Amino acid sequence: MIRINELRLPLDHPPEALTTAAAHRLGIAATDIRRLTVFKRSHDARKKNALMFIYNVDVDVDDERRVLEKCSGDPKIGPSPDVSYHFVARAPANLQTRPVVVGFGPAGIFAALLLAQMGYRPLVLERGKAVRERTKDTWKLWRENRLDPESNVQFGEGGAGTFSDGKLYSQVKDPRFLGRKVLTEFVKAGAPEEILYLAHPHIGTFRLVSMVERMRAEIIALGGEIRFQSRVTGLQIEEGRVRGVTLADGERIAAEHVVLALGHSARDTFAMLHAAGVFMEAKAFAVGFRIEHPQTLIDKARHGPNAGNPLLGAADYKLVHHASNGRAVYSFCMCPGGQVVAATSEPNCVVTNGMSQYSRAERNANAGLVVNVTPEDFGGTGNPLAGIDFQRRLEAHAFELGGGTYEAPGQLVGDFLAGRASTRLGSVTPSYQPGVHLTDLATALPDFAIAAIREAIPAFDRQIRGFALPDAVLTGVETRTSSPLRITRGNDLQSLNVRGLYPAGEGAGYAGGILSAGIDGIRVAEAVAQQINASLD
Ligand SMILES: Cc1cc2nc3c(=O)[nH]c(=O)nc-3n(C[C@H](O)[C@H](O)[C@H](O)COP(=O)(O)OP(=O)(O)OC[C@H]3O[C@@H](n4cnc5c(N)ncnc54)[C@H](O)[C@@H]3O)c2cc1C
Repeated sequence: MIRINELRLPLDHPPEALTTAAAHRLGIAATDIRRLTVFKRSHDARKKNALMFIYNVDVDVDDERRVLEKCSGDPKIGPSPDVSYHFVARAPANLQTRPVVVGFGPAGIFAALLLAQMGYRPLVLERGKAVRERTKDTWKLWRENRLDPESNVQFGEGGAGTFSDGKLYSQVKDPRFLGRKVLTEFVKAGAPEEILYLAHPHIGTFRLVSMVERMRAEIIALGGEIRFQSRVTGLQIEEGRVRGVTLADGERIAAEHVVLALGHSARDTFAMLHAAGVFMEAKAFAVGFRIEHPQTLIDKARHGPNAGNPLLGAADYKLVHHASNGRAVYSFCMCPGGQVVAATSEPNCVVTNGMSQYSRAERNANAGLVVNVTPEDFGGTGNPLAGIDFQRRLEAHAFELGGGTYEAPGQLVGDFLAGRASTRLGSVTPSYQPGVHLTDLATALPDFAIAAIREAIPAFDRQIRGFALPDAVLTGVETRTSSPLRITRGNDLQSLNVRGLYPAGEGAGYAGGILSAGIDGIRVAEAVAQQINASLD
């Protein structure tokens, strides 16, 4: 196959135009192309009056070698790279102990799936419930102000991204195309095929639920086992080697290889690991608010006269501002046509995040507006758990500011910039459930973060006209942006000081999103498989 990069076509091009354009670039007749597959499609939004789709395609032609030779001077044409996944190990027939995977979010799912596909029959321990029961519990917080600390937006089958926009892109380096393996498995489990080629694919929350169930079924069919409501509360370590885990009900499970795919909200488990002597360190993350605008405002600013064109879908944005106090303010987890969700896992705390359905058809666009914080800001030098205390203080204060009922404290952008409390909503109705309590958010974050966000909003308005809309609504607090600590690992992906322990995914500080957590899960599964095989040699 031959890869042709950057074929540009107008938005409304007829389907056959792509083959014609590819043939033209290769200097051959369209009839010489036996098959064309789109590898990637993005759009160039810089010229709003002349938006173009940009394609990278793979074509199958007669006499490929001759065509490649003829095009050798064109840097955008070359042989298609092999993006298929190749297993690095196979389980031996005399496999003695099964690897244990703690946590069944994207990192744990892909670690378990790959181990199962390689024949290692993993045992998965997940503290939350199976995804459908979990969904009901999550709705209880949103509709009835009732939180289940073990079954919520953060905990349960599917992990933190289950109630999300399901954005599937990442900036991690991926020379082995492991992201492609993640996307291919998602398609097998029911995701739309377009996620394989769209530059910014997303799945939406409804489909994620059934996809997670199908991936669970595959792991079980391959000899794996998944236990829900099985919280790991202890780790047996002997002479620097993991020997097993203990569950909350006291059961002990012997294990020589344990993947820790805990997510960023497993605060009790982090404390347990710290007390057990597992090396970890505080790391930087970000805190801020969610901002909601009418989606039509964002569409107009981003797509100009093409706003509302179904080929483009609801517009997104990505913004960064370097504030004069040295802080970076950036948009985080932007959800076009979505809703703001209550994302706490601890009682008497309020945390915001965002999600969308596949259609992205809700009235508002939302995004986190967050400011970087470093261990120096929260006393994290020498105390790996200090970031958790810092998050918890902000979340508990947000609970109070919101009236103590799990409503989120909120403020209109105009009032926030003017430094006065909000008393009534304007044209934007916030989507956060169970509700928004209008107040003054000035004390919801450290002063430096408030100052940086006050400076950033007008700066963002220069990039997206209307971003500083006085009626736009801020809710808070957005604190679970990434893990506040890292469970540091070495080159063999094992903990720095406990052999057989494999920290993985976002909670361990090695991923920041569904795709990168899935990729990390694959890498860790490979490391586990290779270690098991090496130990049997
Ligand atoms: C509302 C929301 C929207 C999001 N939207 C997106 C998005 O659109 N795109 C994107 O890329 N990312 C999104 N994210 C972030 C994404 O979900 C995470 O980056 C990703 O889920 C991290 O995967 P993980 O497997 O490392 O951890 P998690 O998904 O957090 O999974 C960890 C699992 O471990 C379990 N666990 C924890 N402790 C224990 C224990 N002691 N014993 C047993 N089990 C345990 C938890 O119950 C959980 O199921 C969103 C997050 C949220 C909350």
